[in-house]
Amino acid sequence: MGNNYGAIVVGGGYFGCACAYFLAKAGVPALLLDRGEIGRGASGANFGNVQVQDASMGLSYELTLAGFARMKTMEAELDSDIGYNDYPSLLAAERPGHLDGLRRLYEEKKAAGLDIRWLDENQVLEVEPNMAPGAVIAATYFVQGRVYPFHYLYALVRQGRRHGLEVREKAGPVCLLVEGGRCTGVQLENGSTLRAEHVIVTAGSGTAELCAGAGLNVPVHSVKAEAFVTEAIQPFLRSYYSSAAFFDEAHSQTQASTTLCVGQSHYGNILLAETTKPHQSVDAGKQDCTSLEHCRNLRRQLLRTYPALEKVQILRGWVTASPSTENNEPILGKSPIPGLILAAGFKSAVVMSAVAGEIVRDLVTRDTCAWDIRPFMAPVTFLEQS
Ligand SMILES: Cc1cc2nc3c(=O)[nH]c(=O)nc-3n(C[C@H](O)[C@H](O)[C@H](O)COP(=O)(O)OP(=O)(O)OC[C@H]3O[C@@H](n4cnc5c(N)ncnc54)[C@H](O)[C@@H]3O)c2cc1C
Repeated sequence: MGNNYGAIVVGGGYFGCACAYFLAKAGVPALLLDRGEIGRGASGANFGNVQVQDASMGLSYELTLAGFARMKTMEAELDSDIGYNDYPSLLAAERPGHLDGLRRLYEEKKAAGLDIRWLDENQVLEVEPNMAPGAVIAATYFVQGRVYPFHYLYALVRQGRRHGLEVREKAGPVCLLVEGGRCTGVQLENGSTLRAEHVIVTAGSGTAELCAGAGLNVPVHSVKAEAFVTEAIQPFLRSYYSSAAFFDEAHSQTQASTTLCVGQSHYGNILLAETTKPHQSVDAGKQDCTSLEHCRNLRRQLLRTYPALEKVQILRGWVTASPSTENNEPILGKSPIPGLILAAGFKSAVVMSAVAGEIVRDLVTRDTCAWDIRPFMAPVTFLEQS
């Protein structure tokens, strides 16, 4: 039985699009498919920040720095306006309980040579004059980057196509095909099969279910996340603000949380997030809708921090399943099933997308890569047969 492709990439978010682009560019006959459209998952629902200062130390941090440097070159690489620009970020301690964690994060990054600054309350107000005095006790400050999410996704796909990439949207949910202990392709909803030398799973919050069908336990969880965008206003924010509580609380599998993340888009709209809820505590009929509870929580936090935004009109809200892992480390590398490669559960996605795409390309074309990423596969195990 011949292969239809060198690689099939399942999931058209940041990681799927980046993997597909780099594979096609390397000459691998590749197919990118999604059950919906490109950007249908969390990658079409996010703010496009190239996040650095929240990275976990160790391998994640090294990859984040490599990814940060790589993202600065992606506009030229893709010959497309993906809106990359420098974008300062504040990670803010709003309560005394946030201070120890934030201080630790600051000290580890400073010791590692990052140009990160510690700001006291008055210094925060100099950076963000529209912030309410007293809203924040202290913050770390670092100049990160940002992109237009859809421009970046579509540029990867467009340039991938120039290198022969095939793209199939609305393919319906696919299943992995495992034959003789090897992943040999995917089965489509209509029962037909597509075979490939390698299958790359970049299915975000769909990863665990997809891989369970092939007998693998891949612990990528997700929460229901809600966000809003307002009308465009005059320049109001100078930096992207996130509460220091965000990474501790937002992906909890047991508790709902609202932690303020707010930025101003390239176009002047205010982007607001994020309330998250474990899916199991959301009624089945409400998985896809924003909630009044979320609006109220977010409004309270926003106006406590930026009271002048009170009269600004909300244009739209949206919901997505936001993927994560328990230890905030990604699942990246060759799975225990030969032929199956995984790239999912990244804490910060944009910053890692290009470097992860290059790693996957190298695993496919050279069977190795420049990083020892074995720790990222440690949580992946075979499911016990019942
Ligand atoms: C409000 C909000 C703001 C955020 N802001 C940022 C930010 O500024 N910067 C940042 O780096 N991160 C941000 N994030 C996180 C980021 O959006 C996600 O980590 C990232 O999009 C995950 O990308 P992915 O490619 O792994 O998954 P996804 O983008 O979710 O893509 C997975 C794709 O797989 C498809 N799929 C799933 N199962 C199957 C199947 N069985 N068959 C076929 N297709 C399937 C889905 O349709 C989907 O399109 C934010 C998240 C939220 C919720």
